[in-house]
Amino acid sequence: MNRSTFLRRLAAFALLSALVLIPAEARKKASNPEPKAPKYVFYMIGDGMGFNEVYGAQNYNQVTGDGPEYINFTQFPVRTVITTFSASSLVTDSAAAGTALATGVKTYNGAIGVDNDHNPVNSVCYWAHQKGFGTGIATTVGVNHATPAAFFGHADNRNEYDKLATQLIEADFVDFAAGGGFLNEASKTGRDSKYFEDKAREAGIAVFHGKDQFRGLASHKGRVLCFNVDPDRTELKYAIDQKPGDTNLSDFVRAGIDYLYGHFAEKGFFFMVEGGKIDGAGHNDDAKCNIKETNDFHAAIDVVLAFYDQHPDETLILVTADHETGGLQLGNNYMMHPELLKSRSFSEDEINVKFRALAGVGSDRKPLPGRTVPTWEQVKAFLGEYIGLWNTIEVDEKQEAAFREMYHNAFELDEEEVVESLYSTSNRIVSDAIMYADRQAGYLWTHGSHTGSPLGLYVKGAVATEFNTCTDNTLIPQFIKRLANY
Ligand SMILES: [Zn+2]
Repeated sequence: MNRSTFLRRLAAFALLSALVLIPAEARKKASNPEPKAPKYVFYMIGDGMGFNEVYGAQNYNQVTGDGPEYINFTQFPVRTVITTFSASSLVTDSAAAGTALATGVKTYNGAIGVDNDHNPVNSVCYWAHQKGFGTGIATTVGVNHATPAAFFGHADNRNEYDKLATQLIEADFVDFAAGGGFLNEASKTGRDSKYFEDKAREAGIAVFHGKDQFRGLASHKGRVLCFNVDPDRTELKYAIDQKPGDTNLSDFVRAGIDYLYGHFAEKGFFFMVEGGKIDGAGHNDDAKCNIKETNDFHAAIDVVLAFYDQHPDETLILVTADHETGGLQLGNNYMMHPELLKSRSFSEDEINVKFRALAGVGSDRKPLPGRTVPTWEQVKAFLGEYIGLWNTIEVDEKQEAAFREMYHNAFELDEEEVVESLYSTSNRIVSDAIMYADRQAGYLWTHGSHTGSPLGLYVKGAVATEFNTCTDNTLIPQFIKRLANY
């Protein structure tokens, strides 16, 4: 589609919104009284979570028993479909999608909280605060990463992390914020996450690390930031790699509810929660990691559902996504074998760390002192242990020859090939072995970036049925504003 066709389509969309929505609104006012406004609004966003990520996880869980039989929001009473295109492309990035979901405005890819002409636009978080509601945001990635940043920040480019960190500190309309830490530009400026934490404290914001420190938030005076237990990490670990004691998204959701209900039980609150790393697993084309991220998002939503059970008439829960990542398809030659993924218990990133140890190279991929080059048999055993090849997953001759060739290049010719994705670099053998295993299991990745696929909007609670007519990502915050009286 050329640019003028695309712009015509965008204009047609805007016209359609005006034509369809306003009469619908007027009709409703004529026939029904306004529905009772929800007091507690939860806005759950799975970054990179398309339909196949959701149902691919559910398939895995049902076949293996290793996860919830139903991803909770697939059972919500209202389930509809939204479009996600941005003002610059039919395929959005997380910044334009975050801005659409937060402010109701279509903008260009890369933009945070500014419209297509770079003018700042306010978010549903801001609107809620203006009307006296409490506000919170939580994510598994950096607290100033694209999706959360769209709820408080304004930047022409999503990578302006220092600016966005400062904007969060200054955003007195955000009462509670949680994430790995502050993403930063330390490599250029020397100002790291701890620098911004100090700035936050100077501004009177309390900063807590890990769930042991999240106790007592209900009565804490002033704004709070809840971060990862490890102050050196600006994002949480992938769920699949987490160990007991590591911070997870559910910890943030519990902390946020404690804080927000503690301070705003009477008036109500708005709480945005992002499963931010489903996207990273999609960029890596890593099905098992993706499944575990989706299950982790489900677990965080279970915490919200427990709150809902206490306040069913006053709570609205929305679950959606910003875009799909990886072009995941389900099925290989009429079959799926999710059980082939069961024994894999680390992310591709973590398997790469282990592979570098076997290969005797450091994180810069340079040989370590006294390195012993692994044999092909050792590499084969490694792929069996961590990915299941030749153990639970058959490897045909052609594929084995391909792995053998990669081994030859990497270790006999010393020309290691790497596969780059948005957030990580993988050894070619590891990357291809995971891709092969996923394919045998019926999880076929089309590529390593976003797609323009439509997404699910799953809604439960007060005024849920109102969202049946919500057809595009920009309409969600507009609907929330109208229905929650922001
Ligand atoms: Zn992405």
